[in-house]
Order: sequence, then structure tokens, then C-alpha cells
Amino acid sequence: MKKRGLQDKVKLNNGVLMPQHGFGVYKIDNQIDAGIAINKALEVGYRAFDTAQLYHNEGILGSLLQQSGIARDELFITTKIGDDNQGYEATLSSFEQSMKALKLDSLDLLLVHWPSQQHFFDTWRALERLYKEMRVRAIGVCNFNASHLDRLANMATVVPAVNQIECHPYLTQYPLKDYLKQHNMIAEAWSPLGRGIVLDDPVLKTIADNYHKSTAQVVLRWHLQQDRVIIPKSVTPSRIAENVDIYDFALSDEHMTMIDGLNRDYRTGHNPEDVYLKI
Ligand code: NAP
Repeated sequence: MKKRGLQDKVKLNNGVLMPQHGFGVYKIDNQIDAGIAINKALEVGYRAFDTAQLYHNEGILGSLLQQSGIARDELFITTKIGDDNQGYEATLSSFEQSMKALKLDSLDLLLVHWPSQQHFFDTWRALERLYKEMRVRAIGVCNFNASHLDRLANMATVVPAVNQIECHPYLTQYPLKDYLKQHNMIAEAWSPLGRGIVLDDPVLKTIADNYHKSTAQVVLRWHLQQDRVIIPKSVTPSRIAENVDIYDFALSDEHMTMIDGLNRDYRTGHNPEDVYLKI
């Protein structure tokens, strides 16, 4: 499967092109770590960044991107509406705060961070408004399962472009992946490395040795070859460089199948079903 590098893009259901490989910034929330990590990410070629209101680092990211001098149209920035800001008015006003922090006039992708039972339609209505007013180029969700997406379809006038879900070799979520493909939504993997828990897996180690690559590189490559968007996070400069050095090899079908077989439906994060019932 041909993959060229960080310039590879996926086409969203509204025609917008989104980089397939971006940089996640969850838990990078102090100036020193953020300066090192985000500047290194830019240096190795990252142009897509995934933040959230909940990460409390939109301001730090916005300043570093501004200081980088990289043209706005070369960047692809995603943020997410936090649980406390769900609902129509709160979504609209918190979006303005996010844009101020990020120092942006328009956003590339705005996501609902978790499905909310209480504010399910209101939050989405606010996202649709921001999309129609061209404040955001695309809108989507995170952590929605098929039943959440079916429910949303009852009232949505804009189909989500992206569903950002936990996905790694121990949680492959293939039924949801098939659903997203069928409904023309892009699957974006959060915790693509399983927050590190998959990296000592003996099967992955054997496969990695075969290509003279690390287990992290093999896992990221496995995602790319299944056309998922990935947003690995690291604060370690050598790992940030390592995670983009995945474009000079391709996993065989046999190795892809072996990695698929590692699934054990293991979540590092919350189950969206449980969170949905609480917010
Ligand atoms: P991740 O990217 O799967 O893993 C990050 C962990 O792996 C860190 O501990 C990092 O360590 C380590 N790591 C990274 N590269 C490595 C390498 N080459 N070798 C060994 N270890 C490596 O986990 P994540 O940060 O949870 O997820 C990525 C992004 O997804 C987040 O930053 C965020 O943007 C997004 N996310 C979204 C949601 C949601 O609900 N929508 C939830 C969680 C995350 P060091 O940093 O110490 O190097």
C-alpha cells in the first residue's frame, strides 16, 4: 500500500482534505514540554495537530504555531467541545474562546468530545451552525458508537465527517470501522499506540524485528494501511522523529492479519456508553 509521508491526506465527506497523520497533544500542558514537543513535531514535518478544550493547551499550541511562522493554510487544526461546554449556547461561546486561545479565525475540524445524553442534539446543532457560517471547515464527533450515530442521523442536517475513536491493536473496533465506511465517515484513531500498553507485545516485537523497525512504528503503519487517521502523542524528541519514520516500509498482508488478531476489546479510556449516560 503506497504511503508517501506526512503530506498524505484523506478526503472527508465534504471534500476537505485532512492529513492522515497528525500529532496529538493530550497531556502536553506545560510550556516547557509543549515547546520541546510541538517544535520537534513541526521540525519533523507535522502540520496537523489534535487538541481539545479539555487538554487546557489550546493557548500554548496557538502561540507555538504562531511563532513557527508556518502559513495558516499549511496547518490542519482540530479541537473538541468539552463535556462542560456541551449544549447550544455553551458550545458557541466556548468555541469562540477556543479560537481566541488558538489565535485562529477559522478552524479545520471541530469535534464533540463525547456523546452526551442530555445535550445530544443541541451540541450538534451548534456545530452545524458554525459549519454553515464557515467558521469550521468540517465537523465531527468522538467516541460515538453506531447507535449514537444512528440517533444523530435522525436530526442532523450535516453528516459527521470524522469519528475519533480509541483504536489500537488491543481494541480494533472493526464493526464500528465498517459502519463508518458504509456511512462515509473517516475513522480517526485516538491512542493509536494504546498509550504505550501494546508496545511490549511479543507478536508485535517479532513483526517489528522483521522490518528492522520499532513496535510503535509497526503499529502506526498498521493503522495507515487500513486508512485510519492517526494522531500519536509523545513528548520525547527521539520518539517524535521515530513515529514519522514509517514511510519506507509496508507490512505484508500476513503481518496485517497477525496484528488484527491481537484484538481483545481492551480499552485504555472510558467506555463511551458509560460516559454518555452521565453527561
Ligand atoms: P498514544 O499516542 O497512543 O500513546 C502515547 C504514549 O506512548 C505516551 O506515553 C508516549 O510517551 C508513548 N510513545 C509515543 N511514541 C512512542 C514510541 N515511539 N515508543 C515508545 N513509546 C512511545 O496515546 P494518547 O496520547 O492517549 O493518544 C494520542 C492522541 O489522541 C492524544 O494526544 C489526543 O490528541 C487524542 N485523544 C483523544 C481522545 C478522545 O476522547 N477524543 C482521547 C485520548 C486521546 P512519551 O510522551 O513519554 O514519549
